[in-house]
Amino acid sequence: KSFRTNIDYRPLTLFDNVTENRISVCVRKRPMNKKESAKGEVDVVTIPNGDIIVLHQPQVRVDMTKFLENQKFRFDYSFDETSNNETVYRFTAQPLVKTIFEQGTATCFAYGQTGSGKTHTMGGDFSGKKQNASLGIYALTARDVFEMVKSPAYRKKDLQVYCAFFEIYGSKCFDLLNDKNSLRVLEDQQQKVQVVGLKEELATCEQDVLDLITKGSLVRTAGTTSANANSSRSHAVFQIILRKEKKLWGKFSLIDLAGNERGQDTRDSDRETRQEGAAINTSLLALKECIRGMARNSTHIPFRQSKLTMVLRDSFMGEKSRTVMISMISPGISSSENTLNTLRYADRVKEMGTDGNGDATPIRDEEMFLPPKIDESDEDEEDN
Ligand code: ADP
Ligand code: MG
Repeated sequence: KSFRTNIDYRPLTLFDNVTENRISVCVRKRPMNKKESAKGEVDVVTIPNGDIIVLHQPQVRVDMTKFLENQKFRFDYSFDETSNNETVYRFTAQPLVKTIFEQGTATCFAYGQTGSGKTHTMGGDFSGKKQNASLGIYALTARDVFEMVKSPAYRKKDLQVYCAFFEIYGSKCFDLLNDKNSLRVLEDQQQKVQVVGLKEELATCEQDVLDLITKGSLVRTAGTTSANANSSRSHAVFQIILRKEKKLWGKFSLIDLAGNERGQDTRDSDRETRQEGAAINTSLLALKECIRGMARNSTHIPFRQSKLTMVLRDSFMGEKSRTVMISMISPGISSSENTLNTLRYADRVKEMGTDGNGDATPIRDEEMFLPPKIDESDEDEEDN
């Protein structure tokens, strides 16, 4: 089997018009991890080419026999488990770098259940210890931003690069570059939303940005007994901000969203955990509605429905706004329910469903991978 993610990648330059879409939606499947392999988990996700993704969802018939139902979806790109961060970056965030140089707003979201690879994709492996940590989309974007700043086209503009890094937990915001200071979000009379007191650090080179990513990532995961569980309950927003003589020129927001899994059993969880879950749910629903509104050029975008969409107001409203969402998928059968939810959400954001009217068409397992039936009489008619 050949995957387009391996064979069809041409080298891109920053100026390539990969997509003129205001919104693009992609999925990325991560490889099986050691734990899943050890358990002998079945891989239930197939990516037959670069845009279709099929989930083999286990189902039970009334007579209790089990079968796999195939749910097929189509996205702008579907990345299989062999693709690396660099490849994913090239087809998602990289084409948006030029947007911020053209005085626009770019936004890249990582969506998916906890453990599906959001932080790996966005932050890379920033433990602060590893020497050759793999770079994520934050760092790869920073690399290209500095390349552009130094390019002949922009050198004379004398643009300054700043970084901000904060976390949204429930309705609260915390500054990850400033001791987790609590931040207030206010809307002024011109409907401009401001994160009051958010620290913006000046970066003069790529290494400065890497240092800030490391610093903020460590602050994000530090100080809790169950660090991983906790950071998966918040949205992390990393921003690369271009300024010319202190005035805003363009802004790239890179967002590692909170895990989208629903509380498995609400009776088991305490009040705080339930409230956490409700806040995440609200913000992810609001996010979907805002992106959909943006795609439709709607005049009413419900950005006030959550803190997350509130702080991203510019990203939905500007004429020069571009958004890409990368939905992360775990391959194992134990995640199949969350995977289906993730694919459905991503499909609703863009509605690229395979049957032409928006909804993905479930197909039966028997039909899967059969050679396509060619009705020759039909084809002849189409040709004429
Ligand atoms: P999330 O942030 O969505 O909760 P993580 O990014 O922390 O998930 O990923 C969970 C684990 O899986 C991490 O150990 C991470 O390094 C690993 N992982 C995720 N995606 C990949 C990938 N594409 N290739 C290799 N390892 C991955
Ligand atoms: Mg994470």
